[in-house]
This record gives sequence, C-alpha cells and structure tokens, in this order.
Amino acid sequence: MPELPEVDLVTRHLNKLALGRRIMSARLIRPRLSPFAAAEEFAGLLSESKIEHVHRRGKHILIDLNTGRTLITHLRMSGRFVMLPAEMPEPKFSHAQFTLDNDHVLHFADQRHFGMMKIVETDSLFEAKELACLAPEPFSDEFTAAYLHEQLKRSKRNIKETLLDQTKVCGLGNIYAAEALFLSRIRPRLAANKLSAKRADVLHGAIRDVLAESIAISESVPVFPENIGGNFYGENADGEWRVYGREDEPCVVCEEPIKRIPQGGRSTFFCRKCQSR
Ligand SMILES: [Zn+2]
Repeated sequence: MPELPEVDLVTRHLNKLALGRRIMSARLIRPRLSPFAAAEEFAGLLSESKIEHVHRRGKHILIDLNTGRTLITHLRMSGRFVMLPAEMPEPKFSHAQFTLDNDHVLHFADQRHFGMMKIVETDSLFEAKELACLAPEPFSDEFTAAYLHEQLKRSKRNIKETLLDQTKVCGLGNIYAAEALFLSRIRPRLAANKLSAKRADVLHGAIRDVLAESIAISESVPVFPENIGGNFYGENADGEWRVYGREDEPCVVCEEPIKRIPQGGRSTFFCRKCQSR
C-alpha cells in the first residue's frame, strides 16, 4: 500500500506529465471507484477542464481543475495512474479514463479495486470528509513532538497501530511505521499512552527521517508514463529496509534475528533486542 513518499512521487510525476493538459472527456468504468457521482455525472463534471495543479494531502492525490473542482484520488492497495497513447489498448483493470488534449489517455488502473475518487469544490476541498479528519502533514509546523506526544497519550492501543491512524499521524503505513519504531528503539506492542515525552521526541524525529529519506531517494526516480511512480515502491537507500520484510534476517544493529508479529491484522517487523522497551 503506497505511503506518503510514494504518493508524493506520483503527485510530482503527474504534475510533470499532465499539468496544463485539458481533459477532453472522462469515463468512469467501475462505478464503485466513485460512489459519490454516477458515471454520467462523473464524466460531466470532469470533461472539458484543464489540470491546473496536482498536490497531495496525506495519502490523497488532489487534482485541481480550472473549473473550480478538484478530483480527490486515493490509491489504497494497488491503484496507479497510467498514461498511454490513445491508440494503445487500455491497461488491465482500467477503472477510470481521462482523454487528454495530447492524444494520450490517463488511466486509473486498480487491480485490487480499493481505490477511491471523489469530485469536490476546490474552495471547500479541505472540508471534504476524507481530508478534514487528517492529522497535520508530518513536515508541517503543526506536527511537533508535543503534538505527537499528546496524540499518543490519548491512545490505549499499541503504538504501532496508533501510528497507522491517519487522524493521529498522517502519511505512515506499515513500512514507515515499523522503520520509525526501529530507529527510535520503541517496542511495537508498547501502549501508545505509555511513551514518555522524551521518547515521543525521538520518535517524532525518526518519523520525519524515514519519510524524508525515501522522498529524497524518490527524487531520482525517472518518470514512467506507463506506470506513474509505480516502480519506486518498496525501495530505500540500500534497496532494503532496516526491519520491514526482514523476518529471521539479522538486525542491522545487533544481528538478533528480526521478529514478525501480527498487529491489527497486519505484520509488524521489529528487533526484540534493540526495541525492548
Ligand atoms: Zn537489533
């Protein structure tokens, strides 16, 4: 599932490929992708509009149009944007299609069918239910160590699952949450409200570090119109995560085998020795 750095990359590449382009026509092929507008309304609201700005809030991609509307997209598990010449056959699982004024079609392809699109007024974009509830952006001034500590204090759940709650901390998913906990030497099963202010401060720095590290690496990813941003996911500086996906492999710090435990229906990877408190 794409996390903040991956969504950020898709956003930047969409800007490079589609900024200033006119959407000549739009087609919603899988109605459940956009339960808020029927196919006809979807097409009507987006056709004949110019792409003015592509930005991001949390893991949502926001495409501002010159009509005063914004298309909100969440990639969820497997959604991706694909830009192909109009004469090319459509990709598998193409659930929405935008024919542009450069004889290309921007497809939204989604193998697992969890993606979401919603059209809203740009003026009230951040009042949309999906965005209004989100925690501050991790690199914003509002996301301070004190803010993080306050959010954690209110949660009795374990800290790993709390970090995945986008209303408390925005942008982390299963990979970056595990990596940030490892860097801050925090036991993933620790109750969130038991973390001291001092350790919350360390965690705050680690969250920014793991996200910034991946965003920096993603800067050198070439633009692939046929799979926008798609090849980056799962890579980092050494082509390997510190703990994520490394069950039974030696810890990069102490060589203790990395453990995998289920938490909230997902796997958490951690080092028992480095993350003992
Ligand atoms: Zn270790």
